[in-house]
Amino acid sequence: MLMVAPKCYKCGGVGQVYQAHTGRVLCKKCFEEDIVERVREQIKKYNMIESGDLVLMGISGGKDSFVLLDVLSKLHNPSNLIALTIVEGVTGYNRRIEIERTEEHCMERGVKYITTSFKEEIGYSLEELVSQASRKGVKESPCTFCGVLRRRILNTMARRVGANKTATAHNLDDESQTLLVNVLRGDYNRFFRIHPMSPRLHEMLVRRIRPLRKIYEWETALYAYFNGFGFQAYECPYITLRPTLRAKLRRFLYAYEEKKPGSLMRMMDVYDSLLDKKRPWGDLGELPTCIKCGEPTSYGRDICKVCEIIEKITGV
Ligand code: SF4
Ligand code: ZN
Repeated sequence: MLMVAPKCYKCGGVGQVYQAHTGRVLCKKCFEEDIVERVREQIKKYNMIESGDLVLMGISGGKDSFVLLDVLSKLHNPSNLIALTIVEGVTGYNRRIEIERTEEHCMERGVKYITTSFKEEIGYSLEELVSQASRKGVKESPCTFCGVLRRRILNTMARRVGANKTATAHNLDDESQTLLVNVLRGDYNRFFRIHPMSPRLHEMLVRRIRPLRKIYEWETALYAYFNGFGFQAYECPYITLRPTLRAKLRRFLYAYEEKKPGSLMRMMDVYDSLLDKKRPWGDLGELPTCIKCGEPTSYGRDICKVCEIIEKITGV
């Protein structure tokens, strides 16, 4: 029996990608255009980037971050983009290969590239913090320290280079997991942390944007593969210590999405419809300032999470 390859629903070419959430088949070219178009729509809808904006992108060297770099350099003037890699400082996980690759990708696209590390910015590598934390019996996972410190460094680096926006490569899978975690914890303030463009609740806080928020992880993986971006050479050894609630939700959401394609997209659409109704952070006042370091901190806190972690672990 002669099998006929399905056609791309857009151009009629040879179909290569089945997009389960739309039930459509796309060729490679139309698949890539679809990703760029959906990112463009999100940027436009939430006014994430305006002409003249200087955007600092957090580029870890993973597939999502290369997709962010590639798509933003197609949609925004590359000379107004800066890529930043932050090296956490973990033995055997020094991001050397990823830094070389990122450097190449940035050069090809005319994007400036800078790097820094936890050690340079905070005074401790992640590994040093983790080993001191375990000596002191501090329970938090390395990923918690890592996330808090990376967010801080991205923000301080943005101020240093004069960027007025920071962009991260969170995809739809990441966002829907975070949304569920925050709903389950009943955390109203964090609920809006995944807003496509964070409000400027403190003068030292640079606005954060999340252009890939409506792109599935399998789509970023395929886009990266089609573009020959190469996958991360090594995994962070702390990955197995990730917080368990998120890991459980991740498994649950994957299984649910497989059974009912489009579920994650619909979940984020519900979130978006809440955002569209009113400025959700409208009644939140300015964020407090940390009394130790002068950086912004969360509501109800005197000392920011970064200072808390360092104080708990080092006693300073
Ligand atoms: Fe950081 Fe955790 Fe990712 Fe390692 S696995 S890079 S500690 S967030
Ligand atoms: Zn502080």
